[in-house]
Amino acid sequence: MEVLKAEQIDLAEGQTVTDTVASIIRRVREAGDDALRAYLRQFDSVEIDDLRVSDADIQKAVSLLPQTMLEDIQFSIERIRAFANAQRRTLTEFEQEMIPGAYLGQRVIPIESVGAYVPGGRYPLLSSAQMAIIPAKVAGVGSIRVCTPPTKSGEVHPAVLAAAHLSGADEIYRVGGAQAIAALAYGTESIAPVHKITGPGNAFVTEAKRQVHGQVGIDLLAGPSEVLVLADHTANPVYIAADLLAQAEHDVNARVALVTTDRDLGHAVIREIHSQLQTLPTAATARAAWERRGQVFYAESMDEAIALVNDWAPEHLHVQTADAYALRDRFINYGSLFLGALSSVVYADKVCGTNHILPTRAAAKYTGGVWVGTFLKVVTYQRIEQQGVEALAPHCVRQSQQEGLIGHLRSANIRWSGELDVHPFE
Ligand code: NAD
Repeated sequence: MEVLKAEQIDLAEGQTVTDTVASIIRRVREAGDDALRAYLRQFDSVEIDDLRVSDADIQKAVSLLPQTMLEDIQFSIERIRAFANAQRRTLTEFEQEMIPGAYLGQRVIPIESVGAYVPGGRYPLLSSAQMAIIPAKVAGVGSIRVCTPPTKSGEVHPAVLAAAHLSGADEIYRVGGAQAIAALAYGTESIAPVHKITGPGNAFVTEAKRQVHGQVGIDLLAGPSEVLVLADHTANPVYIAADLLAQAEHDVNARVALVTTDRDLGHAVIREIHSQLQTLPTAATARAAWERRGQVFYAESMDEAIALVNDWAPEHLHVQTADAYALRDRFINYGSLFLGALSSVVYADKVCGTNHILPTRAAAKYTGGVWVGTFLKVVTYQRIEQQGVEALAPHCVRQSQQEGLIGHLRSANIRWSGELDVHPFE
């Protein structure tokens, strides 16, 4: 494997982010709303009294949005809902008599309350509101509380408000960062705690989710964006450069890479990125991300390239090769897979219906992205009749005895023989 462009620095920020976030969570737990207001002053430069966005402000935001914007939001909502509904149908309840007289079943129950984090530091990510809220609604979650950072005016961006409201948010709060995650996990005077937190965010938000996990459930670690493009000689360097910069513009910590079996294509993409950066309005962020974390690899063979892809485990994997679909099943670690040059990642980021809250930093090795199942608990139940007791109890009694758990033995035995203890123990 030849490296045509290497990562320039390895972020040595882990320790700092971890400590900063730990102290933010501690302060929110101690001081509640006062801590949230202090962090709004410190990080967002705004003075806010009422943290919750009023219904009147939500209605005003919806009424002021241009009609085309509302139509775009509705289009996305319908696409995301349709896909979430299709996924919901794959989760079924059942009950089966597994052994005569022993009926075992599976139920699918929605989580009662969910906190949806909508990023807002650099861009008003209205698509993230839709991605977090709609699958939760389809799952049947009872209460959805949204937290998002305000703009410099102290208001939530109207498009984010409209998207969150139209997607089904029950409450919306003007609070962002790690402090929002702490509030959703532990509760404050204004924000009631939830059972699970979902949504993407920057390094602080993602670390906060990691630290509150256990107190509440979290969806997954969906940090600064990543894309890995796999391309051969048939690929178009203009497409690929645009694809890499589309994720690089999210965050200076975004991670973008190309692995190619065509060395010339690799060099062409590097040239094209410099060219496109000249005219990209978000170049300040995108250039920093590209210079710090951009990588281009030349692989001798497709096998070598695929091994790298599976080891990298990217959030977004975009395959731009002659036979992209034929390669599909050879990829095993990714958040979401894009097959063929036309399948732009940004279609899924916003409008095609699959979810864009996806695992980063190789978390794709153990999880997929947010889906309707993120908001459902698959639980089991059992109903055992006397015939089932006859079949199960002898084994259960002997295993309990072997384990030395005589309380277990008694609970099993009393239903089988009518006595607590087995005499003599065998
Ligand atoms: P954000 O809302 O995640 O974070 C902004 C908040 O971070 C601020 O309000 C502030 O409270 C806090 N903050 C900023 N600097 C801080 C500091 N020095 N110390 C403590 N807290 C600080 O918005 P963002 O920063 O624009 O980041 C959005 C992120 O979401 C990007 O990294 C983007 O790539 C990522 N993203 C990921 C996915 C995914 O599925 N993985 C999807 C969409 C977006």
